[in-house]
Amino acid sequence: MDARAMNRAACFRTPASLMRKLEEHLFQEDGDEHGAVIGASVIDTGPGLRLLARRLFVAEDGIDYVPGERGYRMLTPEFVLRCVRACAREGLAYLAVHNHPGTDWVAFSGDDMASHRRGYRALLDILDGPPAGALVFARDAVAGDIWLSPQEQVELDHAVVTGRTPRVLHPAPRRPRAADARYDRQARLFGDRGQQILGAQKIGIVGAGGVGSLVNEYLARLGIGHLVAVDHDPIEESNASRVVGARASDWTPRWLPAKIARRLGWKPTPKVRIAERVAKEANPDIRFDAIEADIVDPHAAGRLVDCDAIFLAADTMRARHIVNSICHRYLIPVWQAGTKVHLNNSTGDIADVFSVVRRLVPGESCLWCSGLIDRTRLAEEAASPQQRAAQTYIDEVPNPSVITLNAVAAAHAVDDYLFTTVGLTSPSARPEWFRHHPLIGYFAQLKTASEPGCPQCQNHLAAGPLEPLPVRERSQ
Ligand SMILES: [Zn+2]
Ligand SMILES: [Zn+2]
Repeated sequence: MDARAMNRAACFRTPASLMRKLEEHLFQEDGDEHGAVIGASVIDTGPGLRLLARRLFVAEDGIDYVPGERGYRMLTPEFVLRCVRACAREGLAYLAVHNHPGTDWVAFSGDDMASHRRGYRALLDILDGPPAGALVFARDAVAGDIWLSPQEQVELDHAVVTGRTPRVLHPAPRRPRAADARYDRQARLFGDRGQQILGAQKIGIVGAGGVGSLVNEYLARLGIGHLVAVDHDPIEESNASRVVGARASDWTPRWLPAKIARRLGWKPTPKVRIAERVAKEANPDIRFDAIEADIVDPHAAGRLVDCDAIFLAADTMRARHIVNSICHRYLIPVWQAGTKVHLNNSTGDIADVFSVVRRLVPGESCLWCSGLIDRTRLAEEAASPQQRAAQTYIDEVPNPSVITLNAVAAAHAVDDYLFTTVGLTSPSARPEWFRHHPLIGYFAQLKTASEPGCPQCQNHLAAGPLEPLPVRERSQ
């Protein structure tokens, strides 16, 4: 039986490093077909299925990939068994890969589909949970046939190569719809295709304060289809100068004296609810998930694992650590945006002021490897409130913060996201991080880092749910 699940869409994501090796093997000078197997971790979100390329097994021509008994070429049963057992040991899905000639269009042959029907029931038995399936690549296209069970198969909708200049591959070229009139001016730059890409994106925003509220407004007005904002704080009067969309009635009850209102259970508006209001006013069609929780809550972090991009606008070491982990484990690019005012400890004078944007590319640039996650502060933040109260050295004085410094970081981060996502960034664009120091009129570009052997960006790359996120234990 070949029952296609109509409501499910499968998507394949791969780090650029694995894709480079795969393409070198598939598209050789001989112009012939070549084969491989990919072991992929699996995220199943109900309507969506994501397969994250974690292992590549190259099939050696003439040994593992040989003339077929029915089709043109086949993987030998020994190679298939070796790979499927390796996948089963690690809890990965098994994806057989080969290539067809052509550029932007590709489909399985009748022989290919017949071999899936003959072979994949047995592979599903060995895997005992994860799906088995196949991908067929042309130079700029990919199709997939994913078997969740003998009764349920899904076609691949698209694949994403998550490198510095990300690529999206489909089975065949898609003709974009004409952009909505409200996006006419920006569609003249991004094209209808670019606008359609933005409309299909799901983006996480961690922190809905000063920087996050601006990122939220920019993304909503650009026509992003789905936003997920995570923040556990209610608005305070001192946020009014920076949180866009905040109104006096969000922190002061409108009709009653504040004291009585609080006694009656009145609460200031959570920042994520203000973000939701702003986003829906900008675009009534937007889908918005307002998560009133700290990113260290397991259920909050779990809401971000199927995003297309994440903006990190919360400046704690734990938020950095968790979002950096999501980036590499789930192959999701991250833009960290923030500002800093350094005061001289002894004199109180201003030492430095800057806005900073750091783009994290899965497997290629990492906050750990760049020395930006301070272990001591991480441990302090993980301590319980009682432990923290006993630690007098934690500085509880609020940091200075100004909307314009935030805007430089937020706008630059969204700019960089935008141009890489719609495919306008030049492949030769320098991927360095960006820091603006307004007091000395200086822009700095900083080198990014990713070190061999780093558990976060190398060993756990594309591990998905197989490696738990460093979130708070549920019992805490
Ligand atoms: Zn084929
Ligand atoms: Zn790293």
